[in-house]
Amino acid sequence: MTNKVLVYVDHFKGEALPASWEAIGAARKIAESLGSGVTAVIIGQDVQPLATQAIEYGADDAVVAENPALADFRPEPYADVLSKAAAEADVLLLPTSGRTRELAAMVAVDLETGMAPDVIEIEVDGGLVLATRPIYAGKLLSKVVIKERKPQILTTRSRAFPKPEPDASRSGEITNLEFEVGDVPTEVLGYKEAAGGVSLTDAAVIVSGGRGVSNNPSLTPPDEITDEKDQEIWRAQQGFGLVGDLVGVLNAAMGASRAAVDAGYIPYANQVGQTGKVVSPDLYIANGISGAIQHLAGMRTSKTIVAVNKDPEAPIFRLARFGVVGDLFDVVPALTAAFKERLGK
Ligand SMILES: Cc1cc2nc3c(=O)[nH]c(=O)nc-3n(C[C@H](O)[C@H](O)[C@H](O)COP(=O)(O)OP(=O)(O)OC[C@H]3O[C@@H](n4cnc5c(N)ncnc54)[C@H](O)[C@@H]3O)c2cc1C
Repeated sequence: MTNKVLVYVDHFKGEALPASWEAIGAARKIAESLGSGVTAVIIGQDVQPLATQAIEYGADDAVVAENPALADFRPEPYADVLSKAAAEADVLLLPTSGRTRELAAMVAVDLETGMAPDVIEIEVDGGLVLATRPIYAGKLLSKVVIKERKPQILTTRSRAFPKPEPDASRSGEITNLEFEVGDVPTEVLGYKEAAGGVSLTDAAVIVSGGRGVSNNPSLTPPDEITDEKDQEIWRAQQGFGLVGDLVGVLNAAMGASRAAVDAGYIPYANQVGQTGKVVSPDLYIANGISGAIQHLAGMRTSKTIVAVNKDPEAPIFRLARFGVVGDLFDVVPALTAAFKERLGK
């Protein structure tokens, strides 16, 4: 392998995270400054097509490590293989995901180097990568550099870097990495699919609902729903139904506050925030969400934020580019109708 800038292509059973291609775009900039090329590293089983894709997205070449023992992501063997592939590299980029949080940290330990997670901006100065990353739940941005140790390992936040346009005419060498898999202490027993729809972290548009989605006292639940909590859930379903209409028109993903999740209105998979997903869509529409610091931690890097809230003092308005003070049960259907007309749907 000749290139000093490596990108680990994160994937689930051969389907790459779009953020992997964003990481290749970020890597190209670093590589240009360092006078190097970009090598994609792909680990798994039956993952050769990802090497071709990585080259189309801007890698100069690719290294593939395939073995039946790597069919499921397990951090221990993946870290062994990636450490081997990256041992001579100057920079290793990975897209931020649940998998790479573990993987990048383990490779950093193996190679006795440093790691900067969840980076949103990158500059290169004198061969060193200066990485900007949010800290303290996004209240501060810190600039980090990994000095004197190599590779400099960084994970890039999903949607923080533009995804390059694929170019099918690009070509590059694809080589197989020689390696052995030892005893692996973990085994994946199975997978259970989370709630469907557009993936939150990859979505360009997210429409979210908070505790406010259940707050419409004028809605009368059917007679058979007598329990107070069930009535609240029923109201929340009506509110999330309206939010869902807007999600549909905008081909968006559905987000939620923790209050809405904890109250049982919507599954945890939809939660945005410090203890949920961290997202950076082009457009984030918060409905009936107050804007607690823990929620903002998950969405404050969204490009345009729109807030709908009854309370003009709600903290979310301090961050929002556009705010509508009003009842979401009136405003959301009006937004849906306006977008429908504008988008010709
Ligand atoms: C350790 C820790 C981690 C946490 N992690 C997260 C996290 O990951 N994500 C997260 O979201 N929270 C998280 N929280 C919880 C967070 O502190 C807030 O409690 C939560 O975000 C509040 O959710 P909410 O805005 O939906 O509810 P509320 O704060 O109750 O706000 C509801 C809002 O809806 C408005 N409203 C009510 N009715 C209507 C209506 N009809 N039309 C329009 N507006 C209306 C109200 O004016 C209000 O502003 C965490 C807390 C802790 C302590």
